[in-house]
Amino acid sequence: MLRFRNNVRVINSAECKACFAGIPQRRKASFALLRFNLDINYETEHLAGVVELPIYGEKIMFSERLKKLTPYVPGEQPRDRKYVKLNTNENPYSPSPKIREFLETCEIESLRLYPDPLATELRERIAEKYGVKKENVFAGNGSDEVLSFAFYAFFDNSNGNLLFPEFTYSFYPVYCDFYAIQYQKIPLRDDFSVDAEAYIGTESCGIIFPNPNAPTGICLSIEEIIRILENYPKDRAVIIDEAYIDFGGESAVRLINEYPNLLVIRTFSKSMSLAGLRLGFAIGDNGLIDALFTVKDSFNSYPLDMFAQKIGEIAIADEAYYSSVTKKIVETREELCSELGKAGWNFLSSKANFVFAGKKGIPGEDIYLGLRDRGILVRHFNIGKIKDFVRITVGTKDEMSRLIEEMKKL
Ligand code: PMP
Repeated sequence: MLRFRNNVRVINSAECKACFAGIPQRRKASFALLRFNLDINYETEHLAGVVELPIYGEKIMFSERLKKLTPYVPGEQPRDRKYVKLNTNENPYSPSPKIREFLETCEIESLRLYPDPLATELRERIAEKYGVKKENVFAGNGSDEVLSFAFYAFFDNSNGNLLFPEFTYSFYPVYCDFYAIQYQKIPLRDDFSVDAEAYIGTESCGIIFPNPNAPTGICLSIEEIIRILENYPKDRAVIIDEAYIDFGGESAVRLINEYPNLLVIRTFSKSMSLAGLRLGFAIGDNGLIDALFTVKDSFNSYPLDMFAQKIGEIAIADEAYYSSVTKKIVETREELCSELGKAGWNFLSSKANFVFAGKKGIPGEDIYLGLRDRGILVRHFNIGKIKDFVRITVGTKDEMSRLIEEMKKL
């Protein structure tokens, strides 16, 4: 029996078992559900599914909790051939050159010791950059981990469902299932923007959305965010996931002193070109930050290794380098949009490092598969009114020229 996820193609159980042919029964039984899911995804190109446990779990007792999980499926990190990789919103440019200097001189002796569990210096540097206090900053192992702690700390159903956009970062419902939080998806407006009004008017235990939203790239103005905060109960958290804010939106960080229920979550993965390092942070009132520390210390005291902390400090200080990289990406995004327009494609107005685009008459899945055949990976979500779009990460200018050439042939 198979359960399927929204952005993967259906495979039947025979195909699924075929993926497992040759793996000894003993190993099958010890595979975690998530691992299994990813293996199928990687090894069989666009085919993926989540297999119910009995197929490989007959000999082991799995918890009821595990059986209910439907894990997030990350964008492919393919190994079968070299692609122009525009599917996971990574930065096409190198991280700060100062990081290389550090790595070439760092003392491996320091690895004997545990890292600072509070990530004090990193949080100080982040605080300096954003004009807040260290007590307003929490740092974690990627913003995914920070988000997960925040879901645990701030949302339950005592005041209603958690609200987030109908089309948004697909990890949010996964965290909800993990922590047994009921949620309600709020439809986007007809123009695909987040409908600020609808969040105010609905009884709920909290709000979360990315700004700019993913996968649309559309940004809410700071005025609309203030409107939500002004009209939302002050005893419930409003979380703004600013993973992509550096590419053109206005950050809500400056509002944290005025709104103690506002938590802003950021990442080093996108504008700072450090997706492989796994570093993210949250900025908010120190009451919210203390709650995140309580969750962290109930789970893992040392989520950030010492290299990640140090590299994060170096990256956050190298503003000159990163602002030039961001400027290049924004320019390339605008050029890409202009080329898409000339070639007759539709696209949403993006303030992120990706563009959500489609073409009348071509199903989104065919765009995805057609580009994949031509060696270009983009991301496709086979759901509702976004199914005829693909999300294209803004790469280098050369990558975008190649992309446009291939798109014209579809
Ligand atoms: N939020 C959004 C909206 C994202 O798209 C991503 C990247 N997949 C993340 C958070 C997580 O990023 P990371 O864990 O790399 O910091």
